[in-house]
Amino acid sequence: MTYSALLFIDTPIEFLKGVGPAKADLLRRELDISTYGDLLEYFPYRYVDCSKVSSIAELDINEPYVVLKGTIHDMHTIGVGKSMRLTAQLRDASGQLELVWFQGIKWIKDSLKPDVVYTVMGKPTVFNDRINIAHPDIERADKDNESNRKYIPIYSSTEKLKAKGLHSKGIARLTEQLLRMAQDKIPETLPVSVLQKYKLPSRGNAIEVIHYPVRPHDIALSMQRMKFEELFFLQLDYQYSKRERHKRSKGYVFPVVGEKFNRFYSEKLDFDLTGAQKRVVKEIRADMKSGHQMNRLLQGDVGSGKTLVALLSMLIAVDNGCQACMMAPTEILATQHYLNISKMLEGVGVSVELITGSTKTAAKRMIKRQLANGEIDILIGTHALIEKDVVFKNLGFAVIDEQHRFGVEQRSKLWSKSIQPPHVLVMTATPIPRTLAMTIYGDLDCSIIDELPPGRKAVKTLHCTDQQRLKVFGFIKSEIKKGRQIYIVYPLIEESESLDLKDLMDGYESIAREFPLPEYQISIVHGRMDAEAKDYEMGRFKRGETQIMVSTTVIEVGVDVPNATVMVIENAERFGLSQLHQLRGRVGRGADQSYCILMTKDNLQGTARERIRTMVETTDGFRIAETDLRLRGPGDLQGLRQSGILALKLADIVDDEPIVRAARETVEEILDKDPELTDISNACLKHHLQENKSRISWGKIS
Ligand code: ADP
Ligand code: MG
Repeated sequence: MTYSALLFIDTPIEFLKGVGPAKADLLRRELDISTYGDLLEYFPYRYVDCSKVSSIAELDINEPYVVLKGTIHDMHTIGVGKSMRLTAQLRDASGQLELVWFQGIKWIKDSLKPDVVYTVMGKPTVFNDRINIAHPDIERADKDNESNRKYIPIYSSTEKLKAKGLHSKGIARLTEQLLRMAQDKIPETLPVSVLQKYKLPSRGNAIEVIHYPVRPHDIALSMQRMKFEELFFLQLDYQYSKRERHKRSKGYVFPVVGEKFNRFYSEKLDFDLTGAQKRVVKEIRADMKSGHQMNRLLQGDVGSGKTLVALLSMLIAVDNGCQACMMAPTEILATQHYLNISKMLEGVGVSVELITGSTKTAAKRMIKRQLANGEIDILIGTHALIEKDVVFKNLGFAVIDEQHRFGVEQRSKLWSKSIQPPHVLVMTATPIPRTLAMTIYGDLDCSIIDELPPGRKAVKTLHCTDQQRLKVFGFIKSEIKKGRQIYIVYPLIEESESLDLKDLMDGYESIAREFPLPEYQISIVHGRMDAEAKDYEMGRFKRGETQIMVSTTVIEVGVDVPNATVMVIENAERFGLSQLHQLRGRVGRGADQSYCILMTKDNLQGTARERIRTMVETTDGFRIAETDLRLRGPGDLQGLRQSGILALKLADIVDDEPIVRAARETVEEILDKDPELTDISNACLKHHLQENKSRISWGKIS
């Protein structure tokens, strides 16, 4: 890379002819374009084939974008103030249609001339039974200008930019001009060997083709190159920093499997581990012996036995003289983990404590003291556990349950709980599609439990509407007669909590009528109740004193009542896929056949319909996650906000899976061969990382 090349793409945009300080400021604010390089990377979102000119009389109004040719007549300004608009007639040999503008009226009026043939492009719409085109892209067709191209790139613009003449056409003019100056000044960012291996065009070539294509095929190849580059550097950042950390961070070494682990394993565990559990325990063991700090993501469906794997790992830490902790997202969950784990560890000689937001001050003080002097081996809790004044004597292993509720920040808080960062195991029951895991968790190692304990029957899922409600009630009664328990869940949407509470209470009343005392006992739990009342109701249900649990989604995560066999989800169309999957995971935890009943209104449309269908068709968490990603896009997935994935400008994490894979493999190969990137052929990569580093530190300063 030459110095002059760097200079060119970093040139501030106002140095471009036709861009003064005012336009430069707008470009920066509206489109985040402040340098030549930024403009070159501002790509068109579609192309128009100008050789396909339609005639006005035969216009297909269903076309998203049409090209017309004609002269302009009868310009009129109508209305005043905000509702002012400009109309004109476009006429060709076959007929005429109306063009209309709401913005930039004066400029358009002055620039359009009579008796000139224009190429007019835009989306036709029907208004008052007549076809018109609002804010068309217009250029002179008579002049033999260089922009008489076959494929015209269409750039998205904003109203403010359009008012300054920077509509699509205006932007195209700028990029054209810039490309003419740019010859050989667009530096290559990928190693030559990578370009050769995947037969990708050079960066300069790709950018030119994208703005100025001759054949459609070239566009696709050039876009691939740019997407590859984007994903490649994302991977490089992740993988390089992961390797760096790996090198730097010494991890606790736990060489022995000791007395406590063995006593628990042989005396307390009355079943065999599944093959998948054994495999994952081995993977964790290997990390614990390696001398490096572990950062591992453990994925597995609800009930697949992740918590048990976590417990075994914590016991190894304790056997090696360290403390361990487990952090859960809600008080209910933390408490449940605490009760389960302390019961399982009875007589094993491990001291377990619980800390949550509602732990009393005196008890908290006691826990903190015992934690600091090492009397507590395992601490379970909510995020109360990572508060500043909670100090461990020697935290060696930390488990985070249900990752999606915690951010990266919380993970790093855990790190600082120990002189040496503890090994970290993140457990999630919301599987992340493979492509996504590869991309966002480039910095975590991944373990998967893909096998349920033996004897589990897959939950049967049914879709019912209101007309079938009586049948559903009948079915519930028959299950209760068999001694089983039922969940009935109502949606909770934060924006209208009071409305949802009303839904819940209405539902509760009709259920109470249908299932009267004393034959039936009903628990109710919702977000507005205090912790004590919730615990009381949950406790009654857990002990089997109530047969029906009516609740909002507070029970979503982790509640474990193996005797519950029916999960009824009301207004199921209002839930997201991963939430539905989580809820369904509350049943099917015992040996009996379980059911999930999705209640919806009639006539579901669009994605709601697809979500319900997916739930009925499959119980495979990974398939559900893939569908969820496809339906919602990564932007909506919980927990992804801080990850670079949302900053992807070109690549689509779902559609471009092969490119994600190729980019990842390529980065691995390069770093395996040349970990420090000292080889001259990798100089551009080294450069990228250094630039990134300086950018990050700038961000911190300002
Ligand atoms: P997860 O945390 O993945 O939701 P848990 O570890 O809570 O799953 O396990 C769910 C239930 O299955 C628990 O009651 C647990 O004791 C039981 N379990 C776990 N592993 C096995 C196994 N290998 N065989 C039989 N039951 C198991
Ligand atoms: Mg669990």
